[in-house]
Amino acid sequence: MPLRFYNTLTQEVEPFAPLTDNTVRMYTCGPTVYDFAHIGNFRSFVFVDLLRRWLRASGHQLDHVMNITDVDDKIIQNAVALNQSVEEYTAKYTEAFREDCEVLRLETPERLVKATEHIPDMVRAIEKLAETGHTYDSEGSIYFRISTFPGYGKLSHADFSGIRSGARVDVDKYDKDNARDFALWKAPKEGEPFWPAAIGPGRPGWHIECSVMAIKYLGETLDIHAGGVDLVFPHHENEIAQSEALTGKQFARVWLHSEFLMVEGQKMSKSLGNFYTLRNVLERGYAPEAIRYLLASVPYRKQLNFTFDGIKSAATAIDRLRNFKLRLETEKFPEGANEKMTVRIETAVREFVEGMDDDLNTAAALAAIFEYVRDANTAMNSGEFGAANVAGAVDLLNRFDAVFDVIAPTRQSGEMSDSEVDSMIAERAKAKAAKNFALADQIRQQLLDQGIILEDTKAGVRWKRKT
Ligand code: AMP
Ligand code: ZN
Repeated sequence: MPLRFYNTLTQEVEPFAPLTDNTVRMYTCGPTVYDFAHIGNFRSFVFVDLLRRWLRASGHQLDHVMNITDVDDKIIQNAVALNQSVEEYTAKYTEAFREDCEVLRLETPERLVKATEHIPDMVRAIEKLAETGHTYDSEGSIYFRISTFPGYGKLSHADFSGIRSGARVDVDKYDKDNARDFALWKAPKEGEPFWPAAIGPGRPGWHIECSVMAIKYLGETLDIHAGGVDLVFPHHENEIAQSEALTGKQFARVWLHSEFLMVEGQKMSKSLGNFYTLRNVLERGYAPEAIRYLLASVPYRKQLNFTFDGIKSAATAIDRLRNFKLRLETEKFPEGANEKMTVRIETAVREFVEGMDDDLNTAAALAAIFEYVRDANTAMNSGEFGAANVAGAVDLLNRFDAVFDVIAPTRQSGEMSDSEVDSMIAERAKAKAAKNFALADQIRQQLLDQGIILEDTKAGVRWKRKT
């Protein structure tokens, strides 16, 4: 079975192929940089990262654009309250977002673009929509008239035929039962920053940002558009209306939406005291790769229940993989290949690929890996894992880690490098050979103080970092 995705637009699971050549043109909605991003945001960004990596593992090239929304009502409110410019205010959170992405090993999209750097493009798009009769003005703001777009509602599969024409809304997010004409361009209120433009002073609405930046860099029809499930309506519905009204072409062929993250079974909210930024979780001492693993482990269309026990289990799972990798690297196995293990690895690879191909079913893909690791460990213990079975196992771990990227431990600043550890181990071996056991023990202790655990085995010294 080929790679396939559940498309929100058609409500079906469909085989996936890019429209032209082998490059996937993809747009995903990025963060609004008014605060540090929370773990719910990162659930959706980890999903996008898995999507990127699996598309590449499937032989595609990527042209992926993600926006940074660096102007919106909350940003303006906060910047004005702090007496800062929008640019000054958002710079801090944009940088924090980039740092957080790096910590979680999220690949940087081919283009990470800021809304405020595309205002003239947005103004031109609004002018074009005005020329073609899709807009009206009211008190200096410009609205998109949704009754001029007959397909309105096709993404959220809601019937909006009864909506009151001319009812409008200034906020970007609103209730599905209450579809309204939405603001493309907002006139500034007293004391608010604005951009001068031929269409009047103001700032862009949130929806127009994404349409304009997507079309500018990826063309009129995208292969994939993705985001969190809360964006289906109104954000993506409105993106479709504006974009298709502008170009007359289908805006995106495949729409993917990731489900929400809950905390200990409840909606994450400040008032419930269960609201965590990524930084809050890291401050409690959890490893970034364990958080990444937890966020990746639940298939993206299922709600994810985030718990601290869940991060601990994720860390244990990663440890199992690291220990298995260490065995592969350090143990001596009987010569040749064990036939059963050769067949077993083929099954594991097939199940892993089938899992990921099935709409990124990460739970199935992980099960394939862990069942294999269990069987291979058992075979190793009973001498039924051959030296010639190692390469296949290493290849499977590499395929897994090219997507999940959790095996390498995160290095703390000031932590010893691998080669430093190796040279201390060599010193210790010399000390032992010279029967200077006091020095050998001292070196072992020094390494332990640095979080490095040594294990003397028949095959020599193995080491790992404490997690
Ligand atoms: P925002 O910064 O609010 O524009 O959101 C950035 C992304 O995070 C969007 O794709 C949202 O759908 C997603 N998001 C926000 N809250 C959650 C949550 N609790 N769980 C999963 N995704 C979320
Ligand atoms: Zn968007």
